[in-house]
Amino acid sequence: MTETGTLIIGGGLAGLAAGYTLEGKQPYIIAERELRPGGLSATIKTKGYFFDYSGHLLHLRWPETTELILSLLGNNCMLLERNAKVRIFGKNIPFPFQANLKKLPEKVRSECVREFLKAADLGMPPQEHENYKCWAERVFGKGISRHFMLPYNFKLLQHPLDKVTTEWCAPFVPMPDRNDILKGAYGSSQKKFGYNTVFRYPKKGGIGFLAEKMAETLSGLRLGCEVISINMETKTAEIKNLGKIKFRHLINTAPLPFFIKMQKNAPKHILSHASRLKSNTVYVLNLGIKKPAPKTHWAYFPEKKYPFYRAGAASNFSNETAPKGKASLYLEFAFPPDSDNGNGEIDFNKLEKTSFRALKECGFIKNLNQIEEKLWLKMNPAYVIYDRERAEALPEIFSWLKDRGIFSIGRYGAWKYSFMEEAIKEGIEAARSILKE
Ligand SMILES: Cc1cc2nc3c(=O)[nH]c(=O)nc-3n(C[C@H](O)[C@H](O)[C@H](O)COP(=O)(O)OP(=O)(O)OC[C@H]3O[C@@H](n4cnc5c(N)ncnc54)[C@H](O)[C@@H]3O)c2cc1C
Repeated sequence: MTETGTLIIGGGLAGLAAGYTLEGKQPYIIAERELRPGGLSATIKTKGYFFDYSGHLLHLRWPETTELILSLLGNNCMLLERNAKVRIFGKNIPFPFQANLKKLPEKVRSECVREFLKAADLGMPPQEHENYKCWAERVFGKGISRHFMLPYNFKLLQHPLDKVTTEWCAPFVPMPDRNDILKGAYGSSQKKFGYNTVFRYPKKGGIGFLAEKMAETLSGLRLGCEVISINMETKTAEIKNLGKIKFRHLINTAPLPFFIKMQKNAPKHILSHASRLKSNTVYVLNLGIKKPAPKTHWAYFPEKKYPFYRAGAASNFSNETAPKGKASLYLEFAFPPDSDNGNGEIDFNKLEKTSFRALKECGFIKNLNQIEEKLWLKMNPAYVIYDRERAEALPEIFSWLKDRGIFSIGRYGAWKYSFMEEAIKEGIEAARSILKE
């Protein structure tokens, strides 16, 4: 039987960063089930197009990970200023909606402002166990909530918003104050809001360039190797194409509910907590277009008539994601988990037809003949659902994992709403804890 110091499940950015930190210091194996590294931060190259799993942009915030990421990207890195829109009432208004009410139809604008001021004057404190719907109406008022916050987030999460909790909102939802909202409704405001006002993106190779750069230095990376089961009593794992592996330490980056199911000896109450964790599924339709796209980076689509919740132009991040003079677009569609169930329940042909009509209406394409390449990609899980069940289940699961010395990290290992830099940070930290032991 092969033995190793640390077994790392998954070669996405979290697993790769853990291997990167252990490299040359302690033996490790990264078992990645796909034939390429990068997980959701990989890029698929086809016919001159570089298709990502939707827009994957680098918003860097911590010095050490920033330095590592920038050194891996070297001179293949661009810094861009966000140009994002919200498509609503047949118009493109600048993002975020709540700070740019000016272009809305007069009736809607005054409803949004009136209801916002009403909520601000009431100044209600947060309720205990506040749900997303109450939170949005308390913070932004009923108008902004009705027209954007609620329809957009329901379309994205595919889960009743009065069951969604709000721990994830603070870093991700822009929160302009009273002055900003009034200025955005009646004055002229150039102020930018939110965590993603500037972002970085590789010049060449799509976002997958980052994972590939990290992977090329890793002697322990094994592709096409799915971890099937784990026995923490014997500290062994059954892995497709590798057989049985004995390990001293374990880092998991696979989705937490699946990881718990892989355990040979998980007690019933832990299995039952794992079954309470929910997520949505996102499909991304990547399109290769014969003509350049309008300059927008991406747009949000809260209205039901659009089947996608967001669409963007990767070729506006870098024109090298498409052949010269052409564009690379992506459309994101959210579903309840496993809604296709392998039974063809999602009608992709119909989705394409309505989407192409919508793209024409919004000016992304002029006619269907401009579409020369198409690639559907599936993300399951995609967005973790924050609800009371998650809040109750996670401490129980993590306490059980901690007692067994298991690190479960990354967006899905930790079962949270996080981003690429955070996955890298957690990989480094888990490996460092192991090196200290
Ligand atoms: C729609 C969407 C848009 C996003 N946009 C951004 C963005 O703009 N900027 C940003 O910073 N982040 C973004 N993210 C988040 C980003 O994708 C993640 O934070 C990051 O990719 C997580 O890396 P990870 O290594 O934790 O997980 P993953 O990338 O999911 O990697 C886990 C790996 O484990 C492998 N695996 C799973 N099960 C097994 C098994 N049994 N055996 C072996 N291998 C297994 C998988 O194949 C995968 O490669 C976005 C996410 C989504 C869903």
